[in-house]
This record gives sequence, C-alpha cells and structure tokens, in this order.
Amino acid sequence: MRASIKPGGGGVQFELAPGSHTAKNADKVISAMEVAMLDLQGQLLGLPICDLLGGAVRDEVPYSAYLFYKYAEHADQPYAPDAWGEAVTPAQIVKQAQRMVAQYGFKSIKLKGGVFAPAHEIESMKALRKAFPALPLRLDPNANWTLQTSIAAAEELDDLLEYYEDPTPGLEGMAELAKRCRMPLATNMVVTTMEEFRRNASTQSVKILLSDHHYWGGLRATASLARMCSVFGMGMSMHSNSHLGISLMAMTHAAAAIPNLTYACDTHYPWQEEEVIKGGRIAFHEGAVKVPTQAGLGVEIDPAQLAQLHQQYLDCGVRNRNDLAQMRKYDPAFSGASPRF
Ligand SMILES: [Mg+2]
Repeated sequence: MRASIKPGGGGVQFELAPGSHTAKNADKVISAMEVAMLDLQGQLLGLPICDLLGGAVRDEVPYSAYLFYKYAEHADQPYAPDAWGEAVTPAQIVKQAQRMVAQYGFKSIKLKGGVFAPAHEIESMKALRKAFPALPLRLDPNANWTLQTSIAAAEELDDLLEYYEDPTPGLEGMAELAKRCRMPLATNMVVTTMEEFRRNASTQSVKILLSDHHYWGGLRATASLARMCSVFGMGMSMHSNSHLGISLMAMTHAAAAIPNLTYACDTHYPWQEEEVIKGGRIAFHEGAVKVPTQAGLGVEIDPAQLAQLHQQYLDCGVRNRNDLAQMRKYDPAFSGASPRF
C-alpha cells in the first residue's frame, strides 16, 4: 500500500497524519470551539475542565520525550539554528535524549523514525537502551516501513520497545504484523474513526490507541473514546503535533480524567520556544505537567504574545504545510513515496 500524495492548498502535500485529512476538518473545528467553550463553562462554574470531564483521577500527567532526527539548521537558513544541533547518528540521538531528559525529567522516550534505513534507526534504539537502561522506549516509523521490513525489524525491537508505533501502513498490515511480534502495536494512523475502531476491535491487532483531541472532535469525544478502549481492553495514550500551552493544557485535563491512560503522552512542547499564554512556558516536573486546579483550562491568553505570533504568521508567508517541497531542498530526488523502506 502506498501513501497518497494529493494536490491541495497550492502545493503537493503528504498525508502524514490523520489530522491532515480533509475528512477531519469538521472534527478539528469542533475541537477548537469545544475547548474554548469548556474553558468558559469551567470559569462560570468555578471548576477545572477535568471536573467537567468526570473528574481527575491523577494530579499530574506524564509526558514522553519526543526525539527527532534533524539537521543543525534549515536549508537556505531562513531562521537562526535552534539550540539542539544536528541529530542524525545514534550518538547524536542519545545526546538529544540526554539533554531533553535532563531538562524536563521525562520517564519515557520516543523516537520518530522512518527517516533513515531501518538498521540505522534500530542502532539508535539500541544506543538509547544502553544510555537509559530503565526508561521505556518507543519507535514510530510513521508507516514508512513495508510489512516485510516491519516484521524483520520486530525481531530486533521486540525486547527493546514498550510499543511499536505505526511501522507499516494500513490496518491490514498492522494486523498481519501483530501476529509476528511480541511487543504491543500502537497507532495514531490506522484507527482514526469509529469504523476503524470497530475493524481493529474485531482483530485486536493494535493494542494502544494514541488519541488526539484535535482530530477526534474534542475532549468529550476523547473521553468517550477512552471508555471504548476500556471496554475493548485497549491501552490509551495521546498523539502530539506541534502545540503551545493551550493544547498542552487541554491534553492535560483530558488525560487527567481518563482512568485508562496507561502510557505517558507524546508532546512536541520542548521543540517550541514561544508561548501565547500569560506567565510564559508551562513547567514540567519529572516529565509531568501538574493538572491545574483553577477554573477552566487554567491558563489565559497573553494578548501581546498572541499579536506577536500572529504577526510572525503574516510575515512568514507559509500557508500550507508542504513536506515534499521542504524535503527536496535537502534531497532533490526525494519522491515522497511511502513506505520508503
Ligand atoms: Mg505516530
């Protein structure tokens, strides 16, 4: 199965994650409005959002370190390089993890894969295991491995990973893989609708659902999804895309109220430097975010910061995510075909 590359929005775009499907547009809009409305309801009632979702079952929500292969800076240098440096070798990935764990205290580590040849990425996971003998590790090749590649890699990853996230595309591929590996499979890609949930439940292939309130239709929809996972004996955690403090807090409230949130949630937060909320960036303690007890979301927009980021949006000229064009700056022959390996 090959991932589709569709024209749209003035550029060729990948379908990298279900949140980018146009079919998810209504859910995404509902989610944005629902979080704002829950914030208002909470403020009117004097209750934190997690109380409106059934009540907090934990007072902090654990997040996972999220590692990425990256160059030291962008092609054409449109922006100043970030402070993280190059991360393409296993040793550099370990260095990135050490820095992130030291700064945030994360107790789980995930690497976004599907970038280099599988053997190279497996070496990175082995290097991480050596550097962090006690921390759960995850690898997400983002459906960039064929079923055959995923089965072969599983032999080396079975004893290394807490879960194996979307190595291969499609529910059928994941179902076949599930018969050939011992570690549980996780997904944010092949179970994104209730119809896919039903199909997966019939085979029990994917054991861990990585929800995302942005494209599942909001926090209440995520809470319902969690109950479905509980009924069908599935674990649950959360997918992340780039987000600031408002989404981080929305995720934290939802996760606080979900009893079967059995794995630390993903977050891109360490990769963002700016904020739109008063008081600046949200603090992590030992890899977790404290569940707010204030009314509503527990954070407020800083209008000056919002205006500054809005101006940045107006000035940057980027209106659509175009990964293919970006990748071709580094590799003119990059085809965008998936799975790549
Ligand atoms: Mg994923």
